[in-house]
Amino acid sequence: MAEQFDLIALGGGSGGLACAQRAAQYGAKAAVIEAGALGGTCVNVGCVPKKVMWYAADLAHAVHDAPGYGFQASLDGFDWSALKRDRDAYVSRLNDIYDRNLDRRGVAVFRGHGRFVDTHTLEVDGRTLTAPHIVVATGGRPRIPQLDGAALGIDSDGFFALEQQPDRVAVVGGGYIGVELAGVFASLGSKTDLVLRYDHALRGFDPMLRDGVMEALETTGVGLKRKFLIGSVRGQPGDLTLKSLDGELAGPYDQVVWAIGRDPATDGLGLDDIGVHMTPDGFIQTDRFQCTNLNGVYAIGDVTGRDALTPVAIAAGRRLSDRLFDGQTDRYLDYRNIATVVFSHPTIGTVGLTEPQARAEHGDNVKTYTSSFTPMYHQLTERKTKAHMKLVTVGDDERVVGVHVIGTGADEMLQGFAVAVRMGATKADFDDTVAIHPTSAEELVTMT
Ligand code: FAD
Ligand code: NDP
Repeated sequence: MAEQFDLIALGGGSGGLACAQRAAQYGAKAAVIEAGALGGTCVNVGCVPKKVMWYAADLAHAVHDAPGYGFQASLDGFDWSALKRDRDAYVSRLNDIYDRNLDRRGVAVFRGHGRFVDTHTLEVDGRTLTAPHIVVATGGRPRIPQLDGAALGIDSDGFFALEQQPDRVAVVGGGYIGVELAGVFASLGSKTDLVLRYDHALRGFDPMLRDGVMEALETTGVGLKRKFLIGSVRGQPGDLTLKSLDGELAGPYDQVVWAIGRDPATDGLGLDDIGVHMTPDGFIQTDRFQCTNLNGVYAIGDVTGRDALTPVAIAAGRRLSDRLFDGQTDRYLDYRNIATVVFSHPTIGTVGLTEPQARAEHGDNVKTYTSSFTPMYHQLTERKTKAHMKLVTVGDDERVVGVHVIGTGADEMLQGFAVAVRMGATKADFDDTVAIHPTSAEELVTMT
């Protein structure tokens, strides 16, 4: 006999949990199916443990900088395994909190791999569950390249499992994860190379950020292997060499970390059997209401291939439940102007159109404002990181359609500016906003 629900989320990560909990708040009978730890990628092997590592790296920089402010401080060792132990304990506390929250809100949790039996029925661990609304929120998993010796490397999940800090490490891939993990390793003292297929990391970002991140990586002590197309990985764990397609060698390394993108977690869900339409890249195809081609089957988060970020998965999930259970019939997530941060050293914050995107859309009707400077903090430190900022405006009224920042504090700076961009603020609105002094953020309202 099938157990009946109003909504079932397949996957208990950022999106699935948000969707099911919001549904339950409206009185719907909701369930979550989760094969692993509650909280999904973000909590267990993503944002949360990554930010802990970023904080550690940032502290290492602060210790280096401290003598500039009169402190007799020096970095006398760093205990990776102690940090991992405490980080794991923190994540485990979060898992428990998620569990209790679901219980408190009356959301049923089923442990195990779920798969579709038909469009309204799922099977998990020998049990059959049915609902008129089923939300696929199974996320993604790290991509491993198809090349000789690839299995000798680890992925971002493997990074979080490392008990010891590697002395020498290669991080492969110039996206978010590659930049962030290379920065953490190098800041904490590993000899680190970032291996790129092309000339730059973060190639899809505004050119100012793309150049800025290369400068920042070098300042952080990351070795840059540009235009290095890996043909194979040679050696054995702890003694690895990368061989490029044209025979160049890099290494030796204790660890090679693949950070070359993530694939959607759709295997074994029975999606083909029920006929869910997929994109050419293998993601689940959805419309703006997160609907698939099948009535009552929805998808949210990373598995849809759109803006693979935790707040996006959460927002899509909550809006879906608002629509299904609170009569907000036109509620959907607008994927434009989503702010995002790369936790590099210093951080990058960006929202809206890059300059090339703005020019492609608006031609000569685009005007930009830029500022580059060394933040006041670094006037007294030996280590210097620069800040670069850009406003991208469009039209005679100079509507601000893009804000791009690399520099200390960019991560905390951008949220408010994202509100302004979303509300259609113009350059004059920025100029009319009285600055907060002395900060780096004030540059954004004083640019000429
Ligand atoms: P997930 O959180 O991946 O959840 C999917 C869940 O479904 C998983 O728990 C999985 O076990 C479960 N599942 C899969 N298949 C089944 C099945 N058949 N049956 C039952 N359960 C199943 N985003 C940010 O916004 N900020 C960051 O700083 C950030 N840092 C990141 C750092 C790293 C290293 C990584 C890898 C990602 C990071 N992200 C960050 C991205 C963020 O983690 C994801 O966008 C977010 O977790 C996506 O949520 P989701 O609900 O779509 O999927
Ligand atoms: P990304 O898509 O961000 O970057 C992967 C990079 O790997 C690409 O930029 C590509 O760069 C490079 N690449 C692809 N294939 C190869 C290959 N075969 N060899 C060498 N390099 C290759 O994926 P990530 O894995 O970094 O992260 C996945 C997603 O998770 C991100 O897109 C982001 O949405 C999310 N995330 C968010 C974070 C945050 O919010 N701070 C942090 C971490 C992840 P190129 O084409 O230039 O070679």
